[in-house]
Amino acid sequence: MSNKIGIVPCVAAMLAATQAHALTLAEKLDLLVAAYPETISGWSGNALSLRNGDVIAIDDGVRRDHDAMLAEGDVEDSLKQLYEAGPCDPKPVVNSDPGRIRSEPLMKALYGDSAKVVRAHLSPVDWFGETLQVTSVNGVDKALAKVRDELSARSNLRTYLAPSAGVFNWRKVSGQANLSVHSFGAAIDLNTKFADYWLWSGGKPGRVPVYKNKYPMEIVEIFERHGFIWGGRWYHYDTMHFEYRPELIAIGRASGVAACK
Ligand SMILES: [Zn+2]
Repeated sequence: MSNKIGIVPCVAAMLAATQAHALTLAEKLDLLVAAYPETISGWSGNALSLRNGDVIAIDDGVRRDHDAMLAEGDVEDSLKQLYEAGPCDPKPVVNSDPGRIRSEPLMKALYGDSAKVVRAHLSPVDWFGETLQVTSVNGVDKALAKVRDELSARSNLRTYLAPSAGVFNWRKVSGQANLSVHSFGAAIDLNTKFADYWLWSGGKPGRVPVYKNKYPMEIVEIFERHGFIWGGRWYHYDTMHFEYRPELIAIGRASGVAACK
């Protein structure tokens, strides 16, 4: 009986692998629009249309290398790398950073273009004895509350989860010019005691230390189920970091890619 149960995910992964196909940009954009219905109304040609009437260019026509995309990607760049979700350990390959490439104009449109505007949308979420301030835009606070409810049932995981190293913090990515997703109240850092971060491990631009992770994959799987991607899947790894990017989970799934091969 236990064998049969064990085989099911493997078969599912094999089927997913055989069905893998590259999505067109149009298919990815449809999933992006579906992921943020409160903010994005649709897309046409090279324009992403927001419900407030604003328009963001999808592809600005600039060709960028990986570092340039990390510093200043457009919407198209942010959807390029596929996020492989699932309960299996990541083995990040060089410059595979799905989700670490973001469009700052889009992030500002989604959550606010200043600390003051973002702050106006923050909502308290109980987190294992603390209160976190999380954006309520697009239901991020509700998604995090669902993550918490599922994690609450597993007392063995609590030491990894709290104290949280924080959610809202208007700041730039360490060593970069672009804003961190913490600026938008849409990312959470877990207990730093178990954290591995490529820069803290002695990394420098162009030289990333050997990958390490101390967080159980059970935690990762629960976050991913509710639309959060994990910084532990990045070549430039940040294992305590989760951010709300449901479009990337959806695009990875529709592309037939998964962490379990
Ligand atoms: Zn973080």
